[in-house]
Amino acid sequence: MAKVSINLSTGALQQEEIIVGIDLGTTNSLVAYIHPESRQPIAINDQGRGTIVPSVVHFPADGAAPLVGTDAKDYLETDPERTIYSVKRLLGKSYRDLGNHAGELGYKVIDDDSEGLVKIRVEDRFYSPIELSSEILKELRARAEHALKTPVNKAVITVPAYFNDSQRQATRDAGRLAGLEVLRIVNEPTAAALAYGIGLNPEEEKTVAVYDLGGGTFDISILSLHQGIFEVLSTNGDTYLGGDDFDRAIVNHWVHRHELQQAVADSPQLKQRLRLLAEQAKRYLSDNDLFGAQLDQANNLTLNRTEFDELIRPLVERTIDSCRRALHDAKLTADKLDAVLLVGGSTRVPLVYDSVSAFFGQPANASLNPDEVVALGAAIQADILAGNRRDILLLDVTPLTLGIETMGGLMDPIIPRNSKIPTKAGRQYTTSVDGQVNMKISVFQGERDLVKENRKLAEFDLRGIPAMPAGLPKIDVNFILNADGILKVEAIELRSGTQQSVEIKPQYGLTDEQVEQMLMDSLTHAKDDVAARMVIEARTAAEQMLYQVDRFVQNNGQHLTEEEITQTRQKAEALRGTLISGDKDLIYRAVDDLEELTRPFAERVMQISIKQAMSGKKII
Ligand code: ADP
Ligand code: MG
Repeated sequence: MAKVSINLSTGALQQEEIIVGIDLGTTNSLVAYIHPESRQPIAINDQGRGTIVPSVVHFPADGAAPLVGTDAKDYLETDPERTIYSVKRLLGKSYRDLGNHAGELGYKVIDDDSEGLVKIRVEDRFYSPIELSSEILKELRARAEHALKTPVNKAVITVPAYFNDSQRQATRDAGRLAGLEVLRIVNEPTAAALAYGIGLNPEEEKTVAVYDLGGGTFDISILSLHQGIFEVLSTNGDTYLGGDDFDRAIVNHWVHRHELQQAVADSPQLKQRLRLLAEQAKRYLSDNDLFGAQLDQANNLTLNRTEFDELIRPLVERTIDSCRRALHDAKLTADKLDAVLLVGGSTRVPLVYDSVSAFFGQPANASLNPDEVVALGAAIQADILAGNRRDILLLDVTPLTLGIETMGGLMDPIIPRNSKIPTKAGRQYTTSVDGQVNMKISVFQGERDLVKENRKLAEFDLRGIPAMPAGLPKIDVNFILNADGILKVEAIELRSGTQQSVEIKPQYGLTDEQVEQMLMDSLTHAKDDVAARMVIEARTAAEQMLYQVDRFVQNNGQHLTEEEITQTRQKAEALRGTLISGDKDLIYRAVDDLEELTRPFAERVMQISIKQAMSGKKII
């Protein structure tokens, strides 16, 4: 399955295709991969430009190719209308979703149709958030290709745990537009937990809190890890609270202390300068106690740790309130948590660390670089998907229903789509014909009612069923879907113990698009499918009836008159004639006719049998 690619620097053939992990952040984005030798996740630092790529896209006035990252960030104040930041906030959203936040952005968000998805206007061109996100992804991809000297076509991308389907789909589309096959969308807190090594041992059961304070957003997630599956027990947070608010608090503080209100109102440059100094001060105070800088000849700006803490305390308190709500929603108390993980650049602020640790009653874990941890976890997930970590579990659900074919070509679902894996399910079947000794088990995948519309995965015969009247054998069919996505189907006839099984890889060879297409098809055809299913059920009932009546006449002809036999044959023929009509009502009417005619015969034979049995003769 793996493609062979050539390492351009060494000329060596590389067996393993690299799948990168991407943290597509509101403020900053990163790409990481698993180093083939060390097997450690590493954030890619191309050409010493650092691992962090600011999530900013600038469209130069001369129409040149867009700039992404630090180069684009420089234009935020000088050319705001052509410089797009925080585009993640707009992904998968309509103008209505944005509400009054749309006006807060420095660029134009277009309200062309409030049901439709938002667009961003840069002069006379319109961009969707998907296109803009794809520019960031293209940049990350280019950096990865440049640093690793190999083509990169596949990725795992992270999203906040609260992202809805539309936002997740938009993220996927952005990846596709950047030339990346998105193998999986992973929740950011899940990726962070993976990076911390939680989830790498299928046996462990853990409950963790992931506290993620970034540039403009705050997320708290409570996750439970059980049998290799991460479950999001609760999420909370504030999509408009982050490190940028800390910067703003510092700017305001300086403006007041130095009475710069008028100067700032007159000079956007001064305001920008103050903002940059504020961020510098904030970062400096994460490791030092006193910051100082000369703004101009008249003003010497200072800030000490205590002052800073007082400025941001109300903001940090708000994050703690969210944590309290998240615990409440997860129906947990802090002492039930096995770990509290810190994610996001702003968790470097000592007051944040102290407040979080105090609230949860345990030292928060900040041992990994909080900027990189999500991307590192995404790389680990990518490595799992690449099949390089057979020892650990895939954290997943099955995207499509798995089932078997039953009478009339109908799909009988055994494991419904979106079931968490690993999982196991089964159902009991029986034979439809007397003396049937083989049973064909056909395994299908898909959402349609008719197996011919679904994808056939495998077929096998359960042989050696003891010959018995139809309906007596008990055949258990079990589907066991393991954590690697391998499906084992086993069929057992319970009386004889005869059994047979196959192993299948349902996802093999299916691209995301095909899975999506199959789901879409099932929606568009749902009505047709129900109608078709009803016809088939009618036909199956008719065939069963015909079989029973045939057998009855053969076995009990001696108790019926010539005329009764002829009538029965006629009605049976009439029923047979309706089978190809595709009209379920017609079929059922003919079934009823035949049934009405033959019921008294069956009762008569029953009476005869009972009399014979009472007089010591055997029942037929
Ligand atoms: P996002 O996930 O929203 O893209 P990040 O996790 O990259 O954001 O966090 C960016 C924020 O972290 C910015 O506000 C930045 O100023 C802040 N930050 C980065 N390093 C530090 C530091 N050493 N001390 C305090 N804040 C920091
Ligand atoms: Mg982040």
